[in-house]
Amino acid sequence: MKPRLECPELKVYRYMNARMELEGKEKQHYSFLEKGLEGELKFDSLLERLEGEYLILKDILLDYQGNLFQIDTLIISKNTIHMFEVKNYEGDYYVDADKWFSTSGTEIKNPLSQLKRTESLFRRYLQFFRSPLKLECYLVFVNPEFTLLQAPLNEPIILPTQLNRFLRNLEFPRAPLTNTPINLAKKILADHIIDSPFKRLPTYEYEQLEKGILCSGCRSLRTHVKKGKLNCEVCGTLEAIELAIVRSVEEIRFLFPERKITTNLVYEWCKVIESRKTIRRVLNEIYTKKGKSKYSYYVLKD
Ligand SMILES: [Zn+2]
Repeated sequence: MKPRLECPELKVYRYMNARMELEGKEKQHYSFLEKGLEGELKFDSLLERLEGEYLILKDILLDYQGNLFQIDTLIISKNTIHMFEVKNYEGDYYVDADKWFSTSGTEIKNPLSQLKRTESLFRRYLQFFRSPLKLECYLVFVNPEFTLLQAPLNEPIILPTQLNRFLRNLEFPRAPLTNTPINLAKKILADHIIDSPFKRLPTYEYEQLEKGILCSGCRSLRTHVKKGKLNCEVCGTLEAIELAIVRSVEEIRFLFPERKITTNLVYEWCKVIESRKTIRRVLNEIYTKKGKSKYSYYVLKD
């Protein structure tokens, strides 16, 4: 019912990573976001094999009395809600008392505590409108290169080696869903907070970012125009130049919402397009022109 989208934070980082040198903490945070999404998508693909009747909601952000909590994946079936916190950790980790460490000795945030916090808030959220469905919560590690030494027993942890078996054993009734689970899913969707206050957007300036058109396939800046197409020198993707321009305009609008879209701005940003005429033609086609002559700019069509 709700797909997983690239979050705005990751989107900014992807653009930045393509157009400038990320350093230190930013680079780390970016790869953390990419890894997180990769893990979630991997889990999504495993869920495609499930049979029976159920609803899947992904990336849900809810508020219970001022406490925000995020849910990676929810499966709502006739009598049960399965909630999953998905981790894509790689390498060896161990648990000592309530603390989690990588084998190099660095302590990491205890993901089990994170799961318990989310579970407790979600449980209260469900109780608030008396949902009769049973809630089961799991912490899932999807990366086959992950090992957890001294893993605590009797905790809802699914390790990579257990994942397939766990999913095989998940059984959902085949009868069509009743109104109870459907209405619950609708309620959750209605309560889902779209604009996440969590996002820690990095700072960047227009001047800092290298100009050019990103390849639609691999996000490389090593592209050039040949015979009306954008050619990627890295992965070979070809794209109609019109589409590449529209993508670039959307990128500018996303990164610099306060800037007016003018032919000159798009020309400078795209860099690899020789004629302003091509850009003007595309802008005139896709957007609405405002203002006169050299002060004109473009906005989205109504
Ligand atoms: Zn490419």
